[in-house]
Amino acid sequence: MTKKKSNEVLTSSSPDLDTNNGQSLEEADPKINTQLEINSKSSDEPINQKGFDNFGFSEGLVKTLANKGYEEPTPIQQAAIPELMLGRDLLGQAQTGTGKTAAFALPLLERIDEKEHHPQVLVLTPTRELAMQVAESFRAYAEGHPNIKILAVYGGSDFRSQVYSLKRGVEIIVGTPGRVMDHIRQETFRQTTLQCLVLDEADEMLRMGFIDDIEWILEQLPKERQMVFFSATMPPEIRRLSKRYLKDPAEITIKSRKKESQLIRQRYITIQNSYKLEALKRVLELSQGEGVIIFARTKAITLKLAESLEASKHNVAVLNGDVPQNLRERTVERLRQGGIDILVATDVAARGLDVERIGLVINYDMPFDSEAYVHRIGRTGRAGRTGNAILFISPRERSFLSNLERAVGQNIEKMEIPNNDTINKFRIQRIKNDLLQTATKDTLSNEDDNEINLLKTVVNEIESELSITPQNIALAAIQLSNRGSSLLINDDESWISQAERHRRSSERRDVRGKYRRRNESDHSATDRDKERFRVEVGYRDKVKPGNIVGAIANEAGINGRLIGRIQIFDNYSFVDLPKGMPTNIFKSLKKVKVMNKELNINRHK
Ligand code: AMP
Repeated sequence: MTKKKSNEVLTSSSPDLDTNNGQSLEEADPKINTQLEINSKSSDEPINQKGFDNFGFSEGLVKTLANKGYEEPTPIQQAAIPELMLGRDLLGQAQTGTGKTAAFALPLLERIDEKEHHPQVLVLTPTRELAMQVAESFRAYAEGHPNIKILAVYGGSDFRSQVYSLKRGVEIIVGTPGRVMDHIRQETFRQTTLQCLVLDEADEMLRMGFIDDIEWILEQLPKERQMVFFSATMPPEIRRLSKRYLKDPAEITIKSRKKESQLIRQRYITIQNSYKLEALKRVLELSQGEGVIIFARTKAITLKLAESLEASKHNVAVLNGDVPQNLRERTVERLRQGGIDILVATDVAARGLDVERIGLVINYDMPFDSEAYVHRIGRTGRAGRTGNAILFISPRERSFLSNLERAVGQNIEKMEIPNNDTINKFRIQRIKNDLLQTATKDTLSNEDDNEINLLKTVVNEIESELSITPQNIALAAIQLSNRGSSLLINDDESWISQAERHRRSSERRDVRGKYRRRNESDHSATDRDKERFRVEVGYRDKVKPGNIVGAIANEAGINGRLIGRIQIFDNYSFVDLPKGMPTNIFKSLKKVKVMNKELNINRHK
C-alpha cells in the first residue's frame, strides 16, 4: 500500500470530543466546528466521509450508531476505520474524548467471526476503570451483534467467575495487563486464537510500569495478527514498541486544540433515591432564571418528574423518545425563547441540544457511562457562557465518580442539599437584585416613556387618594409579584440531616471506595499524609519503580500520582502510600505479584 504525505490539515465539522486535560466541554459536542490536525500516512484519498454508511458496516451496526445519535464519524474514526476494516496495523495518537474507542471497536466488532466462540480480540488498558468503560462501549456498539460476548478482566475482581465466562465462550476480552497475564499463565484463556490486539493508552501503560508485562503478552500472540496501538503522547519507548511489533502500520495523529478555561462548574450531591425529588426541588430554587435541563434514565421518570415539578409551579416540559419530532422542535424553541425554563429529558432525546440559555444541567439519574455524562453536561456552558452541572449520586454509585472526573479532566466538587436558610438567603438576595435592576433601568427615569408616566400617575393617585405610604405601595407590589406565596420557605428539612446520616453510615461501610475517593481528590497530598510500606521485591528481581506503581495503583484503585517515594534495595523496596489504607485493600495488596513475586506488603516501622 502506498503511503500518503503527512501533515495534512483538515478543518472538520466532525466532533472533537476531547474533554480531557483542561479542554472545554463544548468541544464535546459534535455540532461544534473544531480545527484538528490529521497526520495520516495511511490513505491515498483525502479523508472526507459523510455518515457511517460508506465504511462497509453491517446494517445492524449502522442502526445501532444511529440509535446512539452518532451522525458523523469523528476525525480519528474517519481515518482509522477504513484501515482497521482492511485488517491493517495502526499507530494512533489520540486522547480520550476524540472518539478513539469507537474508532477501533466498530471495525473490530465487524471483523469478528460470530460462528467461532473463542477470544478473537484482546484490548489492554492501564486501569480497571478504563477496562470497564471500554468493555461497556463494546457492549453498546454490539447491540446488533447479539452473539458476541465481551468480558472485562482486571485485578481485584473475582478470578473464578472470569474463568467461568471464558469457558462459556467470549469473543472480546478487555483487561489490565496483570490479570490478562494471570489468565494466560494459568491457561484459562488461550491467546492462540486471538486475531487482534489493541493497546489503549499505551503511554499511560508505560508510566504505570506495565511495559515489560505488555511485551511479555505481545510475545505470546500468534504471528499472524492485527495490532493497534493508541497513545495520547508518543514517548520513544512506545515508538520502539511500535517499530518492533507493528507491521507497516497506518499512522494517525489527532491533535485537538486546548481551551483556555473550563466553563462548567461540576458538583455532585450524594443522596438516596427516596429523597431525590425533594432535593431536586431545592436545587432548582437556586437556579437564576436560566434554562435548566434535567436528565432522567427512562421516559417514565421524565413524565413523573415533570408532573411533580409542574405541581410545584415550575414551567416545565418533557423531551423523550415518545415526543414526536415536530413537538420536540417546538419544545426546544420554547426553551430557547424562555417560554419554558425546565426541560426533563432522556439522553437520546436531548443529544446535540444547543440552547445558549441553559445554565444548569441536573443529572437526576446517574448517566449510563462517562460518555453520556460528557454529553449531558455539554448542554450547558454554550457559546462561551459559564454553566453549572449537578449530579445526583447514590452512596453506592460514588465509586463511579472518579471515572467521570477522569473523562472530563476536572474535579467534581461535593455539594450540600440546600437547606431552608440557604434558600431563603438566596430568595432575599434575588428580590433585592431584581428590584435594583429594574429601579436603575433608564426607562424608569425617562420622562418620554408613556408607560412609565402612566404608572407614576397611578402610584401618585394611590398615595394621595388612599393615604398609603410609598413604602407600603412597594411592599404590596412585591407581594403581588410573588403571587401571594410567602417570601421565605419554612418546609420540613429534617430529612436533610437524616439523608446525611444515611450517607455517612453507608460511606463507612464502603471503606474501599472512601479510601480511593479521598486520595484521588487530594492531589496535593504531602509526604506527611503518607506512610511507608515495605514490599518484598528489589533489584534482584529487576523491579523498576513503575512496576510497583502500576501494581499498587490498580489493586488499591488509587491514582498512580498519589503514590509517593519509592526506594529500591536488593531484596526489598520502600513505597510511600496515602495514610489510612483500609484492611481489605492492605490484604489484597499482599498477594499482588510484581515480577512474578508476591509483594507481601507490610507497614514499615
Ligand atoms: P472516547 O474518545 O472513545 O472516550 O469517546 C468520547 C465520546 O465520544 C464518547 O461519549 C462517545 O460515545 C462519543 N462518540 C464517539 N464517536 C462519536 C460520534 N461519531 N458521534 C458522536 N459521539 C461520538
